[in-house]
Amino acid sequence: MFIGHFAVALAAKKVAPRTSLGTLAVAVDFTDLLWPIFLLLGWEQVRIVPGMTIVTPLDFVSYPLSHSLLADIGWASLLAGPCLIRKRIRKDALVIWACVMSHWILDAISHRPDLPLYPGGGVFVGLGLWNSLPATLLVEGTMFVVGVATYLRSTRARDKTGVIAFWALMIVFVIFYLANVFGPPPPNLTALKIGALGAWLFVPWFYWIDRHRPAISIAESGTSADP
Ligand SMILES: [Zn+2]
Repeated sequence: MFIGHFAVALAAKKVAPRTSLGTLAVAVDFTDLLWPIFLLLGWEQVRIVPGMTIVTPLDFVSYPLSHSLLADIGWASLLAGPCLIRKRIRKDALVIWACVMSHWILDAISHRPDLPLYPGGGVFVGLGLWNSLPATLLVEGTMFVVGVATYLRSTRARDKTGVIAFWALMIVFVIFYLANVFGPPPPNLTALKIGALGAWLFVPWFYWIDRHRPAISIAESGTSADP
């Protein structure tokens, strides 16, 4: 899952209007942001096996630190923790926590049974949505449209950048997604790891959008959003 994760961040802006879309995007994709780093460090392993599932050619051999349920509870708490000490966005801590956990839940729906419950555990879960291309496109496409619509209804562009930066990123996402699903598998593991690391480039883009697209409720109250 790719754009489905970010759909959660877009929709979450409605319930956490003071938290930047950048923070919400980091939260929903945090485990996938960590994953290429852990791969490059040799802590986790992946193989390219064309035909592994209909949608992805990746065999997630081992990724307990980035993708086990227990580790994700830890990452979610780490990311949400700082909000608890900031009075104005204390309730957003729960939203950030839920955003991080949404990644594991959506991955559990998409992946074949390869998601560990805890590091070193022998129980793996995965409902295998990726075994069906039409079902994957339907589920993820619907989530994305709902996420974008919810975000547009709950935010307002402050200037032209708020319109252009947002739509440009959404177009890039759709192109990336279609290239991922319909394009050839990565040529080798190095290309895969470096490519996955590229997801970090979207982080400042999301923060940039947020600075030019405040939540309507915040814009009307005249106070600026927290970073
Ligand atoms: Zn993931």
